Amino acid sequence: MSVEITRETIDRYNRPGPRYTSYPTVPHWSNSFTADDYLAALADIAVTHDSLSVYVHLPFCAERCAYCGCNATSTRRPDVVDHYLDRIERELSMVIAALGSNRRVVQLHWGGGTPNFLNEAQSRRLMGMLRTAFTLDPAAEVALEVDPRIGSREQIFLFRELGFNRISFGVQDIAPAVQVAIGRIQPLHQTETVVKAARDAGFCSINIDLVYGLPYQTPTSFAATLQAMIDLRPDRIACFSYAHLPQARPNQKRVDARQLPTGYEKFQLFRQAIDTLTTVGYEWIGMDHFALASDELAVAARERRLQRNFMGYTVLPAPHQIGFGMSAIGDLAGRYVQNDAGLGRYQRAIDEGQLPIIRGMRLSDDDLMRRQAIMHLMCNLEVPFDLALPPYGDRLGDVLAPEIERIAAYAADDLVAIEPHRLRVTERGRFFIRNLAMELDRYLQQATERPVFSSTV
Ligand code: SF4
Repeated sequence: MSVEITRETIDRYNRPGPRYTSYPTVPHWSNSFTADDYLAALADIAVTHDSLSVYVHLPFCAERCAYCGCNATSTRRPDVVDHYLDRIERELSMVIAALGSNRRVVQLHWGGGTPNFLNEAQSRRLMGMLRTAFTLDPAAEVALEVDPRIGSREQIFLFRELGFNRISFGVQDIAPAVQVAIGRIQPLHQTETVVKAARDAGFCSINIDLVYGLPYQTPTSFAATLQAMIDLRPDRIACFSYAHLPQARPNQKRVDARQLPTGYEKFQLFRQAIDTLTTVGYEWIGMDHFALASDELAVAARERRLQRNFMGYTVLPAPHQIGFGMSAIGDLAGRYVQNDAGLGRYQRAIDEGQLPIIRGMRLSDDDLMRRQAIMHLMCNLEVPFDLALPPYGDRLGDVLAPEIERIAAYAADDLVAIEPHRLRVTERGRFFIRNLAMELDRYLQQATERPVFSSTV
């Protein structure tokens, strides 16, 4: 990539903002959204034949990593998982009672935490419960996240046997100093073993997660991490920005903030990932993903049909997403909904026969329109003016004219270009796509105080 980004440009645009896995973002959802509201949403889709995307949150990890930003909890006891699966089973039956059985699922995702913390019997049990509750489409995207430190070749083959066809491995960084600083020791051979197993088992897409902006990361150490991943040749590499938010995530207090690369130095690490990966056959997708040109994600990005949901970028969006387990998020029938993120509270609610809803939101027509515009921006690097908006069929370009005018001002810094039928994000603008999306966010524009978000780079 040839564009030059100066330190001054980074300093000017580097400000806190959401990642927009949802719009409106979670801090704007309402705590007065209840289980009854969720049941009403489920009843709305019960009368349709829409396909579903299903997410199951498995929060358990052997140890809590210092940098972790996930809803996770550490335990060594397998019976804790058994009791949790009991609650998932009950939650499934409550949802199916409202939704109807045998709904077609085109996307199934186990996230965490560490889904492969489940032992063989637990993994079989959970997949059995899901297959009883839903009809998994033969072409469904069935994915899970795996921690290589506790994975084995046998376990990877088990997941393939259970029907998983996409797998994602957490790596973050291979440098010993970085691994010590983030509380996650992961010798490279552990990653090599599971990636090779996934390839031998016939997974159709293998992803590796990296993180930039970690303590003690340097251009030299990060070059070694990138090269090691290139040698493994996964189909996809996600390169996430480390968000240091110890007020919101107390485990991050163990990270020495003085050793974090910030601002321009942090940006240079991301830039290094782009320059390195795109010269060896990966295409830069959306904000922070890379995929081999042959991967379905890269194909979808080229054809401008990439989508984004809570599970990340996807090519198989279902109209509704339903989440199970603590902290799981649903996106259905024009509502967002989230389960309680406390393990004890989640389990108690289920034991009392309640759906464990903690917050949610019914989206207005304005929310739905802006969500579409932000989705196009984040996935396809454009805002198409001619997009017809339900329910009245207005043009996106007309309804969002003031916001588009504001974004057009970024053309002065060559971040966007205004074309007859769309606003296009330039190569330079891709680095600041969250800044552009924030201009479309009515809640941020109106807010007097911003919730805690991570910085742009
Ligand atoms: S980073 Fe992954 S393995 Fe580490 S605590 Fe968080 S969820 Fe668990």
